[in-house]
Amino acid sequence: MASIDVENVGKIYTGGVRAVSDIRLNIADGEFIVLVGPSGCGKSTLLRMIAGLETISEGEVKIGSKVVNNVEPADRDIAMVFQNYALYPHMTVYNNLAYGLKNRGTPKAEIDARVAEAARMLEITQYLERKPRALSGGQRQRVAMGRAIVRKPAAFLFDEPLSNLDAKLRVSMRGEIKRLQRRLGTTSIYVTHDQLEAMTLADRLVVLNGGKIEQIGAPLEVYHAP
Ligand code: ADP
Ligand code: ADP
Repeated sequence: MASIDVENVGKIYTGGVRAVSDIRLNIADGEFIVLVGPSGCGKSTLLRMIAGLETISEGEVKIGSKVVNNVEPADRDIAMVFQNYALYPHMTVYNNLAYGLKNRGTPKAEIDARVAEAARMLEITQYLERKPRALSGGQRQRVAMGRAIVRKPAAFLFDEPLSNLDAKLRVSMRGEIKRLQRRLGTTSIYVTHDQLEAMTLADRLVVLNGGKIEQIGAPLEVYHAP
């Protein structure tokens, strides 16, 4: 677990488009932050800079006490959950969960234990030998979450993870994400354009507009502001 500090961060894309300006955000250890705002306001850019998937043009990002501007994504101790699941289609669910740990040389017994624990938490134990194509959208998203959990990262970064699911499943999955985060206590940053999702999940909401922070506060402060 770790705090995340975003200090005066800005992003100018190649070609000169300014996507994000002067973002200052201190996220406490274990806090669940939701980034909201209209399409194009810079949510995804900010998340991807924290993940290391985009370079940081201005300012600094710290995970724990470490400045990560020049640290590769794999060495940032974060796990990202994407909208499109990003599963390996030719691998079983077990291997999808185990792959990253295998690459890191984690001992087989430890891998098995972590995969079993994540699968139990997400209720996908019965699907471990299946390939992703034999799973429903909701089951695939559980596998994607499982892959993040087995890494035991300092933070989870969620990029609209539920937006490919139907409305009913979105409601049940958002409850599940909240329960998992309470149980694991992992610092989380979650991007969504769904207001209910934001209200349900957030300890604090960060509203972006035109690449800047417009408002930060508890969900009821933000949505019931006069
Ligand atoms: P959101 O996630 O809130 O929809 P984005 O972070 O995707 O917003 O985009 C913020 C701004 O940056 C938008 O104006 C968008 O067009 C621009 N942008 C995003 N990605 C790139 C890119 N790779 N190159 C240039 N401009 C980009
Ligand atoms: P896997 O995607 O199964 O973890 P790899 O470990 O080969 O497989 O992934 C490629 C690199 O990307 C690795 O160095 C890993 O640390 C990093 N990586 C993998 N999954 C994630 C994720 N969900 N979030 C952030 N980084 C990841």
